[in-house]
Amino acid sequence: MKGERGMTSTPTSHEKIWTGTAVSDGVAHAVVHVLKDHFDEPDEEPIQPGTEDHEMARLNAALEVTRQEIEELQRVMDGEQGSAESEIFETHLLILQDSTILKQTEKIVREKLVCVDWAYYKLMCKHMDALRGLSDAYLRERFLDVKDVTHRVMRHLRGELLNHPMFDEPVIVVAHDLTPSDTVQLDRTKVLGFAVETGSSVSHAAIIARSLALPAVVKMHGICDELHSGDTVLLDGEGGLLIKNPSQDTLARYRLREEQAERREDVFQVERHKPSLTVCGSSICVGANAEFIEEVEIVEDSGAEEVGLFRTEFLHLENPDATEDQLAAAYGRVVSSLAPKRVVFRTLDLGGDKIDERLALEPEPNPFLGWRGIRLSLGRVDLFKRQLRALLRAAANGRVGIMFPMVSGVQEVLDAKAVLNDCADELTAEGVDVPDEIEVGAMIEIPSAALSADLISAEVDFLSLGTNDLIQYTIAVDRLNDRVAGLYQPTHPAVLRLISMSVQAARGAGIRIGMCGEMASDLTLTPLMIGLGLNELSVATTQIARVKHAVRRLRVSECEELAKNVLTCTSPAKIRDLSRAVADRCYPELFE
Ligand code: PEP
Ligand code: MG
Repeated sequence: MKGERGMTSTPTSHEKIWTGTAVSDGVAHAVVHVLKDHFDEPDEEPIQPGTEDHEMARLNAALEVTRQEIEELQRVMDGEQGSAESEIFETHLLILQDSTILKQTEKIVREKLVCVDWAYYKLMCKHMDALRGLSDAYLRERFLDVKDVTHRVMRHLRGELLNHPMFDEPVIVVAHDLTPSDTVQLDRTKVLGFAVETGSSVSHAAIIARSLALPAVVKMHGICDELHSGDTVLLDGEGGLLIKNPSQDTLARYRLREEQAERREDVFQVERHKPSLTVCGSSICVGANAEFIEEVEIVEDSGAEEVGLFRTEFLHLENPDATEDQLAAAYGRVVSSLAPKRVVFRTLDLGGDKIDERLALEPEPNPFLGWRGIRLSLGRVDLFKRQLRALLRAAANGRVGIMFPMVSGVQEVLDAKAVLNDCADELTAEGVDVPDEIEVGAMIEIPSAALSADLISAEVDFLSLGTNDLIQYTIAVDRLNDRVAGLYQPTHPAVLRLISMSVQAARGAGIRIGMCGEMASDLTLTPLMIGLGLNELSVATTQIARVKHAVRRLRVSECEELAKNVLTCTSPAKIRDLSRAVADRCYPELFE
């Protein structure tokens, strides 16, 4: 069980259990760290006359702890990276110690007799709004500095984290929502699992948990208000449970269950490094999806035959200011560590729920239909070129594929390829060796791309089906929205037709086609995916051994027969059942 060492049960207090939706297997036993949304507007609480000094003392104490926190960060950064980051903290200290802000806050507290939380928050919001409205891009971006400082002060004013500084010890992170930018800011070496109030099995928090082999449960409604940082819990990522104050009995039961699961898992794991050939000898390449550099070892150990999707936007969110040299070094490390395996880097898929606030200063009404993926890259050619040049340089270390996300039609592919060619020409002129054999691909995750897959296939070396988005855009169902989650159906006939159409287009053009959406990891659907003609599946590292085990027990002709029957079916549930029947017959042990 993750985090067991040093943990004890609490025989005196009672267990309390919450249930949610299990999205990533495993069990962890540790203290929780509750990540609150610090920008919940504080209530405008009236205060008693005579308590104004007390309110100001609270603010001064919060400012002092924040000062120490920023100085500590500055000290660490100075040691690690030099002056640029340290200057940012200098700015933060200036904002924090601005005496005008302190005076204005005090004035509001005394005149309106309101709590200092509200007064300070309102004032800082006014400053942020003023900065956001400026035409000078540099000054406009300073609103992020004010936001960061406000964030820290509000947290300390509310008394959060003071007794449990972030990640001194391994923790289970509990949050209302865990966005990709939240995830990159966590000290992932200390995170043992996630429990989130919102989300779904295809939200990025769930995807990342599976990549990092951490237990995760989503849709744990109300959990943030019920737990406090420092509470001891057990998180069951398979049963979808979170148990506060687990008893000795519960812990013993989970230990036993884990031992049994490990023994079962060993059966699939022993053959994970062998190729995945079907019973009839067809090769199905099973690759891994990855987001972070530290996953390279997990990928290597998982039995993955390639990295079919490296989501580069997570590295970007971790360090948006990385230079071309730093990016080339980071990508190069991934490529050389995994060589001779192919690594498919997807160019930045920012936008949607993966927001770099410095690029998207104006909130969009519909971010998932907005400036996302290749649209953003083509609109910020400076950023795009920096990334493409770094990827072309990294390609010297091994086998690289470059894949464009959120392509809506062939013109975007042509435009992106033109920028890529410019980068290759520039590098060659600079004397840098650019390998010829870099493969270029496009993701099929928008219905218009699937419908024009024949046109796109003529321009690329491979296609990859991003079903997480393809499903949401085909059925018009937000992949993160709990209320419509029941409509998010991978086996909807329309989705299957678009997949089939894309496979036919790729085959017609003689290029490779794979799938890297979460649907590729669904063992119930493996027969159907093979039957539809896919021979590359890129999945979470934790699923590699199991998907390979499934593939080795399937016969292509039987899968094709299934796909033929299914394409005339009307009901998503019936289609799922038909695929499950084949799966149950060929590898029942995977469902025990
Ligand atoms: C997809 O949409 O299926 C995909 C792989 O991309 P992401 O989940 O990052 O949107
Ligand atoms: Mg996608």
